[in-house]
Amino acid sequence: MNRVAGPVWQPGDERYDLARSVWNGMVNRRPAAVVACTGPADVAATLRYGAETGLEIGVRCGGHSIAGHAVPDGGLMLDLTPMCAVRVDADRRRAWVQGGALLGALDEAALRHGLATTAGNVSHTGVGGLTLGGGMGWLARQAGLTCDNVASYQVVIPSGEVLTASARENPDLFWGLRGGGGNFGVVTEFEFVLHRLDTRALSVEMVFPLHEAEPVLRRWRDLLPEAPREATLTAWVGTAGDWAHLPSSLRGRPVVNIGYVWIGDPDAGRRLLPALRGAASPVCEVVGDLTYLQLQRREDDTQGYRYRRYWKGHYFRDFGDEVIGRFLALERGPCAPSASLQAYGGAIAEVPDHESAFGQRDALVEFVVAARWTDPAEDADRITEARRYAATMEPFASGAYVNVLNDEGQDGIRRAYRGAKLARLTELKDRYDPGNLLHLNQNIVPSGLR
Ligand code: FAD
Repeated sequence: MNRVAGPVWQPGDERYDLARSVWNGMVNRRPAAVVACTGPADVAATLRYGAETGLEIGVRCGGHSIAGHAVPDGGLMLDLTPMCAVRVDADRRRAWVQGGALLGALDEAALRHGLATTAGNVSHTGVGGLTLGGGMGWLARQAGLTCDNVASYQVVIPSGEVLTASARENPDLFWGLRGGGGNFGVVTEFEFVLHRLDTRALSVEMVFPLHEAEPVLRRWRDLLPEAPREATLTAWVGTAGDWAHLPSSLRGRPVVNIGYVWIGDPDAGRRLLPALRGAASPVCEVVGDLTYLQLQRREDDTQGYRYRRYWKGHYFRDFGDEVIGRFLALERGPCAPSASLQAYGGAIAEVPDHESAFGQRDALVEFVVAARWTDPAEDADRITEARRYAATMEPFASGAYVNVLNDEGQDGIRRAYRGAKLARLTELKDRYDPGNLLHLNQNIVPSGLR
């Protein structure tokens, strides 16, 4: 690979191990080489080299794909992390973000001008993977998904050609990049629309013992359709940690935590509190003002790199009493996972379904079961428990978020994209990547390779 300007690391090189380590500690694959790309020309040369040699290509931005798709075993890791610059034009309310940047860099650069756009909830997640799959965040109910805020993409398609995709140029590709993942090319730059929003934030959490939580969660569910779009309702079930705000009798016990994140005037946010308190009295309540930037970083440490992880997710169009019962029937035990819910709706649902590849705009709520551990001896039990619990909820699910899919293969793809959408994505794949050079992702298989 002497055709690229950036460095190439191989086993034994000092930077190799750092470059191949990703967020999920379960992923320990060894690429033949890591190509640290510095611009579209490096990306094009790496894609061509992969096509010529048959080396499998993995594309890395933030390295947060739960399945570890960025790291090909024995293949070429196309590492975008050197391409992490963010440029803001405050007058035009636009940000140009290179394809390897992290969300924290986008948030920080935009907020310096009092501007923001929807980004995910953990700042070390990559702009690349998150945006290409959709992009859910605390601003989404006001400003749409992250992908709804992309005005244009600069993309290197598998042939090595550099294209612009926008509503005017290559609109078919623009449609596919809005939710279709990394299937059609490598994005070297995103142009984002920024908003001048009130980015003060309020965080609300109320904790209940598991056995008291059913009426509480029903009340929470009833608020979903009517909640103001500044609010994103959240819920969590799992084992309480050693949380300072919790009575010691509940630490290490199963609890349910309901609440919301409010972006805007915190006093207006507090007006939603009585509605949530209605069903029962929480054992503790934590209500706090914070800045949007603090909010965007507050989970950075708990969502850090040091753990082995397994996830499975569902979308729900309805969240009936039976689903609530199953959500609360999380098994107890040393290998039990935790699970969370996050509200959709608002501006997400207002974008017409046919406008983008993202397939689940009618979701009321997203569910994710998450297992986290350190001892490899627990792998099988942890994964089995998480799968078993997720399976009890699946009959009620309306689909799944492509960015939360893990090891479900084509069954997962069919859950993320319903019939006509999958057919259109397949046509697009046939046009831009008929040989499936970019297949280490949540893969849209070209029709010639089915
Ligand atoms: P990577 O592993 O680097 O990339 C994943 C895949 O995306 C690659 O295999 C490639 O196919 C593709 N890709 C990445 N960059 C490019 C590019 N520039 N061009 C072409 N293809 C590319 N999702 C949300 O919507 N909202 C959240 O709040 C949220 N929070 C999260 C928090 C954590 C801690 C984690 C681990 C994940 C979170 N996610 C969230 C899910 C997240 O969207 C996905 O894990 C996503 O794949 C991460 O992207 P990445 O760039 O970090 O990952």
